[in-house]
Amino acid sequence: MKNIETKTIDCCATPGLLSVEQAIENILSQAVPVGETETVDILDALSRVLAEDLYSSIDVPGYDNSAMDGYAVYSEDCQSSGNELPISQRIPAGQVGSVLEKGTAARIFTGAPIPEGADAVVMQEMCEADGNSVTINAVVKAGANVRRAGEDIAKGGAVLNAGKRLRAQELGLLASVGLAKFNVKRRLKVATFFTGDEIVAPGQPLAPGQIYNSNRYTLRGLLQAMDCEVIDLGIVPDTLEATTEVLKQAAASSDLVITSGGVSVGEEDYVRIALEQLGELSMWRIAMKPGKPVAFGKVDNALFMGLPGNPVSVFVTYLLFARALILKLQGADDYIVKRVSVIADFDWPKIKRQEYLRVRLIQKDDQTVAQIYPHQGSGVLSSASWADGLVEVSAGKEIKKGDAVNYLSFEGLF
Ligand code: AMP
Ligand code: MG
Repeated sequence: MKNIETKTIDCCATPGLLSVEQAIENILSQAVPVGETETVDILDALSRVLAEDLYSSIDVPGYDNSAMDGYAVYSEDCQSSGNELPISQRIPAGQVGSVLEKGTAARIFTGAPIPEGADAVVMQEMCEADGNSVTINAVVKAGANVRRAGEDIAKGGAVLNAGKRLRAQELGLLASVGLAKFNVKRRLKVATFFTGDEIVAPGQPLAPGQIYNSNRYTLRGLLQAMDCEVIDLGIVPDTLEATTEVLKQAAASSDLVITSGGVSVGEEDYVRIALEQLGELSMWRIAMKPGKPVAFGKVDNALFMGLPGNPVSVFVTYLLFARALILKLQGADDYIVKRVSVIADFDWPKIKRQEYLRVRLIQKDDQTVAQIYPHQGSGVLSSASWADGLVEVSAGKEIKKGDAVNYLSFEGLF
């Protein structure tokens, strides 16, 4: 798999609709990162976005140390194999030895400081110890198996920059230089509500014509995984009054409002109308499948994103648009989903909109190929659960088995 540049897409196949790239550009151009910061303990910092550049006050490693269990020697004493040297000291990790006497070896363990004078470590597998002496069955090069002071991070050097979203490995890195507290951006407040007279909370019985509110759990899960503070305003009936009322409340309590349903052109779709009455709508139709209607705009100081109602559309449009928006608002410096090239293991007919197919990667004849979920309906959530990523098919492009296609992995996206 190789990384590919973000490509531009000709959306002119469907006049009046924005391309996915244009939509992302439009959304990001209106997103201003939160300014407020707070100090957090490293134990509470997972997924937070760093608000300051961090530097190291120490070298890491702090001293030359052994990469192996073995014997520290002067390499010039071991320029032929089979030399026997007396063992003059023993240095476990956590202890500091003394100057190594020339012509002797120090028993040493992984992580222990190299004694002064020694310039190499011979791994114990190459040595035969016999009481107080050891035979070195190797020709030893200066520097062998020595981890140099500062080879990971030099004292005074930058460790991480502001804008970095902290994953487990960043927390480990910060701990390795001894940092226990630092400044991060404040949490983003995201208010949500879910429109539809037909939707019911799981746990309740279903009357005829009703369905369960799956979008709430998909969306909450995604938001929580991205460390947002979720203000969940629940299910909202399909009336303009109820929609306007809840939208006002949502905007007053959050940085961003994300909703599902009610953004299409049906007579029962009130979200877009409510948005136009209370604030401003800047776009709402995108040349993509699933998920054509995605409303974006503003109400007072809050941004607004109205995702479609269909459950797969919610998932896909969140990953493409809401995720990038949230990361930018959170102050993160990296918010574009990476595409890699994989081989399609399926045929797919061309359509006028850019498509996002739910696929799973498998190994086949030494190649990584994308297998497609057989049912790609925008209401078939099983496809999203089965898949490990999306294949992006440009508008008007037909896919033949064996073609190289763009793949967006779910891994690391939330
Ligand atoms: P809408 O955009 O409101 O017309 O909804 C499109 C489709 O998504 C309809 O079949 C709705 O029943 C369904 N839908 C809307 N909201 C939800 C939800 N919260 N959970 C599951 N399905 C939904
Ligand atoms: Mg609806």
